[in-house]
Amino acid sequence: MDKQLYDLIIVGAGPAAMSAAVYAGRGQLKTAFFGDETKGNLYKSHIISNYLGFPEDPTGPELVELGLKHAKRFGAEHIRQEIVDVSLNQDETFSLKDNLQNTYQAKTVLLATGQSYVLSGIKGEQEYTGKGVSYCVTCDGFFFKNKQVVVIGSGDYAAEEALQLLAYTPNITILSHGKEFAFNQAFQEELGKNNIKTIVTPRLASLSGEEKVTKLTFTKPLTDGSTEMATDGIFMAIGIAGANAFAKKLGLEMDGNYIKVDKDGLTNVKGLFAAGDCTGSPPQVASSVGNGCNAALSAIKLVRGLRAYIQYN
Ligand SMILES: Cc1cc2nc3c(=O)[nH]c(=O)nc-3n(C[C@H](O)[C@H](O)[C@H](O)COP(=O)(O)OP(=O)(O)OC[C@H]3O[C@@H](n4cnc5c(N)ncnc54)[C@H](O)[C@@H]3O)c2cc1C
Repeated sequence: MDKQLYDLIIVGAGPAAMSAAVYAGRGQLKTAFFGDETKGNLYKSHIISNYLGFPEDPTGPELVELGLKHAKRFGAEHIRQEIVDVSLNQDETFSLKDNLQNTYQAKTVLLATGQSYVLSGIKGEQEYTGKGVSYCVTCDGFFFKNKQVVVIGSGDYAAEEALQLLAYTPNITILSHGKEFAFNQAFQEELGKNNIKTIVTPRLASLSGEEKVTKLTFTKPLTDGSTEMATDGIFMAIGIAGANAFAKKLGLEMDGNYIKVDKDGLTNVKGLFAAGDCTGSPPQVASSVGNGCNAALSAIKLVRGLRAYIQYN
């Protein structure tokens, strides 16, 4: 387990994150940004014709590649791993854990995870949210003491949530919901050691129950022929952990599904900033780059104890 102290850790590798990395690196902050640059929305764009300075319509991947090169130019470190947990320490620093179980310490954190509230699309999900369906073990695990719970998801984020559930119950099953599991070795071993069941399942079709969810129904039979499973609770952990998952754990104020920030990227938690699509700003490369810049300038000011900071050359 590593413990490294950064001035700023940026969760994300899209335009908001990379813009922040340029400013923070250039502002002499010890900075790292996490994430796979090919997983963001910009990478999915065929042509970007409205980003200033690029009149020849670059593709999203071309712009991402240039951004990455630029972000690393002033010393920011790029770690192509997923962050699965962020927590606030008593001394107001932050601890972050990646999907390889490495831990990092940071004086400030910027969430730039893009639009990422991953709903499962299972019928009944919204109806039972708060009635047995949850998205955050740290927030709601307590309500499932010694209950039979399932975690839905196939990646390291699902494994992390299942391991955190052990504080409340030993009866945990992870359902893959139509995918193969893709846990890294360290998580695989931890799940096995702690008797957490993992079942490769077809997609789930629906959730049902009376006042609370009590039953899951699959689109196709499982290997034992059954098409249903009983449960006391469900934790959704599909895809990778998005800003919303972290926001709930950290007690961030939200505006609907978006993290509430001021014009400088400040959230209601000191030292924690957010930028880009996860804040509900116009979903554009230009606004994300601008937000990333503002948040990085705020982080520089906080770390250095300055009232104002700008560097023109
Ligand atoms: C098809 C399409 C076309 C578009 N066309 C245009 C256009 O023409 N012009 C325009 O200006 N905008 C366009 N957009 C919008 C633009 O792409 C987004 O507004 C912009 O990419 C948002 O930047 P971001 O940094 O907030 O998020 P993203 O670009 O989505 O990046 C998010 C990053 O966070 C990472 N991440 C998420 N969770 C974690 C985690 N737990 N740990 C580590 N990393 C994590 C992801 O891997 C990714 O690298 C388009 C979008 C799409 C989908």
